[in-house]
Amino acid sequence: MADVVIIGAGLTGLSTAYHLEKLGFTDYKLFEKETEVGGLCRSVHQDGFTFDYTGHLLHINDAYFKEFIANVVGFEHFNTIHRKSFIYSQNTYTHYPFQVNLHGLPSETIASCIEGFITRPTTKKPPLDFKKWVLTNFGKGIAEYFFYPYQEKIFSYPVEKLSASWTGRFVPKTSLTEMIQGALQPPQEQQIGYNAQFFYPKQEGIYFWIKKLHGQLKQPVYTQREVTHINLAQKQVVFSDGSTEKYNTLINTMPLNIFLSLTQSTTQNFAHASKKLLCNSVVNFNLGIKRENFSDKHWIYYPEKQYPFYRIGFSHNFAHSMAPQGHSSLYGEFSHLQKPPHEVQQMLATALEQTKKLLKIEDHELATEKIITIPHAYVIFDRWRDTNLPKILTALLDKDIHSIGRYGGWKYSSMQEGLLEGKSMAEKIILP
Ligand SMILES: Cc1cc2nc3c(=O)[nH]c(=O)nc-3n(C[C@H](O)[C@H](O)[C@H](O)COP(=O)(O)OP(=O)(O)OC[C@H]3O[C@@H](n4cnc5c(N)ncnc54)[C@H](O)[C@@H]3O)c2cc1C
Repeated sequence: MADVVIIGAGLTGLSTAYHLEKLGFTDYKLFEKETEVGGLCRSVHQDGFTFDYTGHLLHINDAYFKEFIANVVGFEHFNTIHRKSFIYSQNTYTHYPFQVNLHGLPSETIASCIEGFITRPTTKKPPLDFKKWVLTNFGKGIAEYFFYPYQEKIFSYPVEKLSASWTGRFVPKTSLTEMIQGALQPPQEQQIGYNAQFFYPKQEGIYFWIKKLHGQLKQPVYTQREVTHINLAQKQVVFSDGSTEKYNTLINTMPLNIFLSLTQSTTQNFAHASKKLLCNSVVNFNLGIKRENFSDKHWIYYPEKQYPFYRIGFSHNFAHSMAPQGHSSLYGEFSHLQKPPHEVQQMLATALEQTKKLLKIEDHELATEKIITIPHAYVIFDRWRDTNLPKILTALLDKDIHSIGRYGGWKYSSMQEGLLEGKSMAEKIILP
């Protein structure tokens, strides 16, 4: 029995444990199904290359998070990097964000984007659905050349069924002046959007700072302990080996849809909810390339349908340690929603073939290849989620269960938010 049981030692679970201990509380147990901690914030090493579970860059705009990184990890272990990100469409590279960097695109595309912005519909209330939100903020041209095809690729979900509730800070808005300037001038460095500057560990990939966080814990993390059932009545979690652990308060960071299915509760209709909560999967293909400085870009967005991937990045530009000397490394990503394995394999084959063709990589230049699958990647913000998620989380709270983190809380959140959520969770428990 532990007063507090935490499921999942990803960043949010580790942060909750760290902050509980910081507040002097040790009557907790943290259980993780994998052999190591870190969840999505891990890195793998292969043939001298380091690959993250797809590109993971540290964005810091919160004072406490900055202080945490300074004190617990040390900024001297990070490179500070100014974003060089691009969009590839109509055979042209334009700087990100698309809406203020139209320079270089065919003149009819630029005209359509500017005209669409000027004639965009206005609404009194901000639209609730994503398709209308884009139209009223950016107009038809920008919607059709970038936002609609790109978001459909990253979410694998029709834009008309997406809600606008996730947009917030992720989509920088613009003015007509900025748009016209960006159409007339050659692309230049801009500090727009939440990811204009980022930090990246000099060594060991993104896992470096997660290991530092783990290293702060005085209590053990119980790895290889997969929760397979939650007995709500007896306030007890059951593990795959049949062992059990009782709790007063349960903190869940595993994906909410799976968690709900493990409660096998009929009264709350959690089984139904677990099927209605949608989340896509991402396949992350990593290539080690026998060429120095293969690209000077950090990453490129691909909105066009002809490419299965939505983004390709170059991690040798985050830290030299990511690739052996004289080599470069590339990560690509495509998403799918519950596609059968043979279709995913086909998408992967096409993605690899097109990446090599587009970026002119010869087979003999390939040093290594690592495919990483991320079964829960982007939560789908549809109307069902917006209406029902608060009710589900409240019903769990009534049973002393806090479901938090990117997948426990069923949302779009960054590493910074994961760390901060663990802090506020610990404070909620200790300082009610
Ligand atoms: C494609 C992609 C790109 C991203 N890029 C960035 C980025 O550039 N910058 C950034 O800040 N953030 C990025 N993120 C977000 C970041 O990965 C998350 O915010 C963070 O990893 C969430 O941590 P978590 O602990 O909430 O979830 P997770 O990392 O999913 O941790 C949950 C843990 O629960 C464990 N678990 C699951 N089921 C069980 C079970 N039954 N029993 C016991 N344990 C279990 C899992 O093994 C895992 O360790 C990205 C995310 C994705 C998907």
